[in-house]
Amino acid sequence: MTRGSQTTVGWGNIRSTYDTVVIGAGPAGCATAACLAAHGASVLLVESNPKAARRFAGEWVHPEGVRVLQVQGLLEGLSDHVVTSGFVVFPNDGLGPIQLDYPEGTTGLACEHETLVTHVRRRVAEFPGVDYAEGVRAQPVGGDAVDLVARGGEAKRVHAKLVAVAAGRSSRDVVSPDPMREAQVSISQMAGLLVADSQLPCEGYGHVLVGGPGPVLAYRIDANRIRLCFDVPHASHRGAHAAEWIWKSFAEVLPPMLREGVRKELAQTSLSWASIAFRPRRYRTESGVALVGDVAGIFHPLTALGITMSVLDAEALAEASSLTEYAAHRASRSYIPELLSNAIYQAFVRDDAGSEAIREAIFATWRSSPAHRSRTMKLLGAASTGRAEFVRAFSHVAVRAGAAALTSDRRTVEELASWLRWPWASLHPQPDAIRSRSLSWAAPESWASRDFFRSPQPLKEKQHAN
Ligand SMILES: Cc1cc2nc3c(=O)[nH]c(=O)nc-3n(C[C@H](O)[C@H](O)[C@H](O)COP(=O)(O)OP(=O)(O)OC[C@H]3O[C@@H](n4cnc5c(N)ncnc54)[C@H](O)[C@@H]3O)c2cc1C
Repeated sequence: MTRGSQTTVGWGNIRSTYDTVVIGAGPAGCATAACLAAHGASVLLVESNPKAARRFAGEWVHPEGVRVLQVQGLLEGLSDHVVTSGFVVFPNDGLGPIQLDYPEGTTGLACEHETLVTHVRRRVAEFPGVDYAEGVRAQPVGGDAVDLVARGGEAKRVHAKLVAVAAGRSSRDVVSPDPMREAQVSISQMAGLLVADSQLPCEGYGHVLVGGPGPVLAYRIDANRIRLCFDVPHASHRGAHAAEWIWKSFAEVLPPMLREGVRKELAQTSLSWASIAFRPRRYRTESGVALVGDVAGIFHPLTALGITMSVLDAEALAEASSLTEYAAHRASRSYIPELLSNAIYQAFVRDDAGSEAIREAIFATWRSSPAHRSRTMKLLGAASTGRAEFVRAFSHVAVRAGAAALTSDRRTVEELASWLRWPWASLHPQPDAIRSRSLSWAAPESWASRDFFRSPQPLKEKQHAN
């Protein structure tokens, strides 16, 4: 059956057995179906709400993500997108922007979320070996069966050797109630705005604008439109006057050539909103299903890692010989991207003196040598995920910030020391490490307290204690 440009399998043609059932056809599910089909598996890909792709969500894909999508042929024929070369950070410190290029010979891409997801769905639905069912809700039954319910209420059970859940961040209980559910920490809100007929100072780059109440990410998504993502702290105004508040709070950090376009759009168009949260990535295997993409964990989108991590999950799942091997492989490659995402976001947002010292040290280190910029970009795009690479890239930041601490007051030194909380958290054995990693998000006052570095208590008790 062809609906619009999408080839879907009719309800009556869904077979009773497949090698794999993939639940959810977002970036993670489509990539998983494609990677498994490329390994010869028969795949049923099930999507309950195709219109969910219209929401404000991931649009920037790093080179590692592009590599997987290209190898699988999922980007073939995608016309409305922009090839990207890296990021330009505007520190708002009077010393000029810092350009961070992707490793030579590699490029990322930016594309409106709905355009990208609709395209990869259409591509994967055409793959031999993949049946794509739309408007069907799926629920795993153990690790080898899935119950399907169609919109009209019809139901059937499908059996499979592997069930992959790629149902996104708000559907993690599709698997089974997550005992770590409370490990999710709400961070902020993100307001999205599309600006037409304007130019960016560095076309082909993601622009990170620092100095407002939260960072702003700006990038071109097609020939005519630029996306702006404003990170809005929870306490800020978000009601009828949100657009006005955004203009007043962020206008100064916008590149002058973009200001007029943003002002006009804010006056005319409504903003798209998304809640931003952090949940450490956790590849649970106890239900016998594979978790792929956001269902495994989420970071702040400032580092634009969600889609890239999702398609790397998909690639690893198709190559693993067991669920345990897959989970261990991805868990070991998720921690450094998480650390980087948390650290960069907090360094750009916090205004305590310790964080300011870290922020200045990061900018000074990036400005000091192309080698540091290049190491950062490999980590940022998840091209390297090892602890040694992370230490090499950021040891200079630690030394610079440490030198600043020598002339600082005690409070600043404590705030600086509190930045050790993430490496410390990861040293706890599982599952305590997950709790500790999520606790690492606590307010600066509690990072500085000695309690943080004690053995973790259950999260709820700890939060009350704060
Ligand atoms: C504001 C914002 C900006 C972002 N920017 C970026 C960015 O620039 N770059 C980046 O890489 N990431 C970004 N992200 C993150 C990115 O959007 C996600 O990481 C990515 O969409 C995750 O893909 P997914 O397939 O795991 O989940 P989703 O995209 O949520 O897809 C899950 C799919 O599963 C379906 N589903 C759910 N339950 C069922 C069920 N029971 N049966 C059948 N189907 C089901 C849903 O309808 C949905 O279509 C951003 C996120 C936000 C909120």
